[in-house]
Amino acid sequence: MEVRVANVRKEFDRFPALHDVSLDIKSGELIALLGPSGSGKTTLLRLIAGLEKPTKGAIYFGEEDASHRTIQERNVGFVFQHYALFRHMTVADNVGFGLKVRPGATRPAAAEIRRRASELLDLVQLSGLEKRYPAQLSGGQRQRVALARAMAIEPKVLLLDEPFGALDAQVRRELRRWLREIHDATGHTTVFVTHDQEEALELADRVVVMSQGRIEQVGTADEVYDTPNSPFVYGFIGESSSLPVKVEDGQLWVADRPIGLSVPDAPNGKAELYFRPHDVELLEECNGCIAGTVVASRRVAGTRRVELEIGGERQRVEIELPIEHPAAQKSRVAFRPRRWKVFLAEG
Ligand code: ADP
Ligand code: MG
Repeated sequence: MEVRVANVRKEFDRFPALHDVSLDIKSGELIALLGPSGSGKTTLLRLIAGLEKPTKGAIYFGEEDASHRTIQERNVGFVFQHYALFRHMTVADNVGFGLKVRPGATRPAAAEIRRRASELLDLVQLSGLEKRYPAQLSGGQRQRVALARAMAIEPKVLLLDEPFGALDAQVRRELRRWLREIHDATGHTTVFVTHDQEEALELADRVVVMSQGRIEQVGTADEVYDTPNSPFVYGFIGESSSLPVKVEDGQLWVADRPIGLSVPDAPNGKAELYFRPHDVELLEECNGCIAGTVVASRRVAGTRRVELEIGGERQRVEIELPIEHPAAQKSRVAFRPRRWKVFLAEG
């Protein structure tokens, strides 16, 4: 099922949790909503589910305006971050619950519900645990039961709000891979909320980066990582370095010299240069480049991070050097970013 969020605004007591959000989700796609706490991820997910109504705008399921349909009418499966299973029900009864509470004519027979529950438990690799109670399961197993329960109603859309948020890192990584496999096997249109960039980049077909109730960028993992379109996305996904620069006649200047990067269309004035600390070319001679003095050096996994002071103006920037690179000891380092982007100063 395609889902289209069209110019949606959501206010809570006049506070805008979402400003003017538009998003097209393709049928069968796995989308991650990624952003810091408070950026509006859960609100957007609840609007798609039908648990909230938009203040403005509309939500389409296929061709149909679903804005005023309830969660049951939309037929979505929802897994909440802290939503416990029904503790007094067995695993099988938990999974079958959504089918059992269907109105008369659409409710499958008890034997059919059991069969479906056991098929789904097979899919989430929990066969044999049908008769257990939630308290007898690990955290990871419980979230898999919750997912099976959400899928039991054969939802048009599967909505997952930080489903692995409470689990430890190792289990999260396993469940992440496993969720991708399930998604590929079932082909559900899935929207997945996370504040963990690694999770989003690894799992999703496309990542929706959110900040302060707005969508900052939508793209594949490669697109949002390699070509961030705002300082926020640069900073939020992966590591970034930035440096105040000046645009003069299409050239970038740092301190009192041009650095060999051109921005033909940019107006003269102040700007900010962004790049990845590891994505720099080290130079012997500084003829049109950025040169600085090493003021700090630390080892980060397989590389060395050095902090440079630039141009005696108390501007500092971080770049990454190979462990064995002599520059870490040397006082001067010259470099040029390989991939970079300039954002003009606001106003
Ligand atoms: P996220 O899931 O990205 O952490 P939320 O969508 O939960 O963010 O919240 C976005 C903003 O909307 C936050 O500032 C939050 O406090 C506010 N908000 C969310 N739900 C409500 C609500 N029911 N009433 C009032 N404010 C809310
Ligand atoms: Mg949330």
